[in-house]
Amino acid sequence: MESATGMKAEEIIELADRVNRISVSQTMMVLQEAERYKARGVDVADFGPGEPDFPTPDNIKLAAIKALEENRTKYTATPGIAPLRQAVCDWHAAQLGSSYQITECIVTSGGKHAIYNAACALLNSGDEVVIPAPYWVSYPDIVKAADGTPVFLETRAEDGFRLRAADLKKALTPKTKIVIANSPSNPTGAVIPPDEFAQILEVCKKHGTWLLTDECYSHFTYGDAKPFSVASLPGSKERLIVAGSLSKTFAMTGWRIGYALAPKPVVDAMTKLQSQSTSNPNSITQYAGLEALRGPMDSVAKMLAEYARRRERILAGLRAIPGVTCTTPEGAFYVFPNISTHLNAEAPDSTAMARVLLEREHVAVVPGDAFGAPGHLRISYATSMERIEEGLRRLARFFGRAA
Ligand code: PLP
Repeated sequence: MESATGMKAEEIIELADRVNRISVSQTMMVLQEAERYKARGVDVADFGPGEPDFPTPDNIKLAAIKALEENRTKYTATPGIAPLRQAVCDWHAAQLGSSYQITECIVTSGGKHAIYNAACALLNSGDEVVIPAPYWVSYPDIVKAADGTPVFLETRAEDGFRLRAADLKKALTPKTKIVIANSPSNPTGAVIPPDEFAQILEVCKKHGTWLLTDECYSHFTYGDAKPFSVASLPGSKERLIVAGSLSKTFAMTGWRIGYALAPKPVVDAMTKLQSQSTSNPNSITQYAGLEALRGPMDSVAKMLAEYARRRERILAGLRAIPGVTCTTPEGAFYVFPNISTHLNAEAPDSTAMARVLLEREHVAVVPGDAFGAPGHLRISYATSMERIEEGLRRLARFFGRAA
């Protein structure tokens, strides 16, 4: 039988190796299932979201409306409009203590795009990229798509899942081209202390390796942890790529706006790639981003205060469940409990556990397997306190029964 395209059903399309060696985000699978439940009218306690539940602040939305009214609808320069690149440098300097020039800045279609372009700009086939585990799901696939080889470096729950310079040293080989550091971390919420970060940078510099620091959650830190960029350290810039995003900080996930700060030759290479793929980031979004970075930061403080309240509640709730242990996340908006004592014949791993949890209690979580951390679940508290209470009730009931 022939399809509308004239292709026989049994014909196999030969896709590029690049596509075959990557996979669709595992986070999506359980969450898609949760969406199907919701579409059927089921009341799901959704701890899945990897994005703020807050709307984008009004001043940012108004800036976008103004940009539309002013017909800012044409192509822009590939690395972004000059005022926005300057605003990124100024904001990063004021908030995080760096000192970048506009030529060392590129605006991208989200933080993921910045990481992807950086990987494509630097990696040759066989180059290794050290990825501390548990890791954000996209790092290994981005590295593979860019022809690199992911090398996983385990961090320890007893140490709050922080990346340590001493461990990093042992993971480096002559092929290591990039080390990724994500602080605060998705999924663990781990924050690398500034003095440790300084040592990590030294290890990378000594080894001639790039340090790619993903600062996507920089402004969501709790307790003694404070927003910090390794780019604030003297002499840090020569081997450093900062990937940043407005997605989480300003509740702008759908707008698609991020940036990279890096030595000019790297920014130029990323710009070249961008010029032949996506071109400039969305023009209206760039004007909205300009307002985000130049305007008041009070909405960020309000979101942070609410996340902090929820974090306290959810940690207390989880720790009250027998057999569940949980490190104290110092940043981002996730908790990462260890539920391995509850694994059983019906749910022998975290993926199966997440499925059973969804089926039985209509609670959506992301399995730790997706982040290279079996026996864990990622629970997002980017949801209302009322939903957190409901979700905790269901989790307590579920694990009470399963234990
Ligand atoms: N880095 C981390 C650790 C993330 O969790 C995410 C999004 O979930 C991103 C980068 C990319 O965010 P975006 O592309 O929306 O800026």
